[in-house]
Amino acid sequence: MRYEIVTIFPELVDTATRAGLLGKAVGTGLVEIECISPRRFTTDKHQSVDDAPYGGGSGMVMSIVPIVAALEFLDAQATERGQTTGHRILLTPAGRPFDQVCANRLATLPALTLICGRYEGIDERVRGLVQEEISLGDFVLNGGEIAAMAVIEATARLLPGMLGNQSSLAEESHSAGVLEYPQYTRPREFRGQEVPAVLLSGNHAGIERWRRLQSLLRTREQRPDLFAKLQLSAADKTLLATADAHKELL
Ligand code: SAM
Repeated sequence: MRYEIVTIFPELVDTATRAGLLGKAVGTGLVEIECISPRRFTTDKHQSVDDAPYGGGSGMVMSIVPIVAALEFLDAQATERGQTTGHRILLTPAGRPFDQVCANRLATLPALTLICGRYEGIDERVRGLVQEEISLGDFVLNGGEIAAMAVIEATARLLPGMLGNQSSLAEESHSAGVLEYPQYTRPREFRGQEVPAVLLSGNHAGIERWRRLQSLLRTREQRPDLFAKLQLSAADKTLLATADAHKELL
């Protein structure tokens, strides 16, 4: 997977992409990351990428001109190298909220071009140049870099070969509409808190049942919105009904 990030702060992305599994994937060539600053495509001595908003108002707006130049440069470079041009995404609080379904879909594409705004945002006309607009959530960040990193991390970890244990993906929160079950490791007892006995029992069917129940209970409690969308199987319903009837055993 190739990621192209249009940002005036490439150092933010560089640091984040050098660490951990992502850093390793860059090292092995599984993931390619290229930052490009619109400042490279400015012509004035201050390398200005922003300007005052038409109609007045506070703050500055990022100009479309160097952004388009950066996008055209990236596309030309990809074509020259025989690569597919990037699927363009604008990071904006006005975009579609990012979620696992979106990450799964984007992870199947060969290249993403992530456009990060700063200041009061980007000239509206950039919207006409992208395939989609993504928001990290209903809050406002200073810039799109953290949102771009979230898209990169969430999609790159889905690439075959990225994680040592691919099966862990299937059990994670949001992969199947539920939150993940509680996890424990040593010590077996910590300040009076014991690891649930079933996890030490060696009874694999019992552990699986317990984990499924904990996932359902946690989702019902923490994310009633997700729980309402679940298609519960007959076994799920029985698990929950039994747990509700015997709360003292939980
Ligand atoms: N004035 C804009 C508004 O009210 O929608 C906010 C601009 S914000 C300070 C600057 C940049 O940060 C945006 O252009 C966008 O790229 C990025 N950004 C801020 N919040 C974001 C979010 N929730 N998701 C994705 N990107 C975000």
